[in-house]
Amino acid sequence: MEKTVEQRFAAAVVDVPDFPQHGVVFKDLKRVWQDPGLCRDVTAFIAAEARNLGIQAVAGIESRGFLIGMPLAMALNVPFIMVRKAGKLPPPVLQQAYALEYGEAVIELQPDAVSPGMRVLVHDDVLATGGTAAACGALLEAAGARVMGWSFLIELGFLGGRERLGLEGQITRPLLSI
Ligand code: AMP
Repeated sequence: MEKTVEQRFAAAVVDVPDFPQHGVVFKDLKRVWQDPGLCRDVTAFIAAEARNLGIQAVAGIESRGFLIGMPLAMALNVPFIMVRKAGKLPPPVLQQAYALEYGEAVIELQPDAVSPGMRVLVHDDVLATGGTAAACGALLEAAGARVMGWSFLIELGFLGGRERLGLEGQITRPLLSI
């Protein structure tokens, strides 16, 4: 029988124990990026899930949120917004600090990338503790956007990230839930 996109995606994810630090099982998506047909099908899967949210833009989180975020925006025929690590975007920028599963970081957004009330979908590769996505949502809302949804390729449910994404957005079905 033909495999589903979820099964093909799950088969391409490689677990790397103790990277980038002890106790973390890193989800390496290299084999997904190497497979253009799988990338196309992953994008179509998320686009289908997000289509009824009526979104007007996709915001991708640097850097792995850019990889499917951009084709997702193209599939939904909406603009793509870059949310980047500190120091990469020319001013003026809005900033948000947050805690990671490992470490701390600051992300930035150019406020003129967002129009008032714009309905945005936040996209990243992995939902872990939710700190990154929640910070991205807060940043977008500070710029005047409305976060209507979140999409992730993988959800690490045992880290409780979903509970941190309060706001009003819905989470689209991930390709892989652990
Ligand atoms: P968090 O803020 O804890 O939800 O972490 C999400 C961010 O860290 C995403 O941008 C992921 O790319 C990355 N990340 C966190 N945990 C993992 C993991 N186990 N495997 C791969 N990437 C991860």
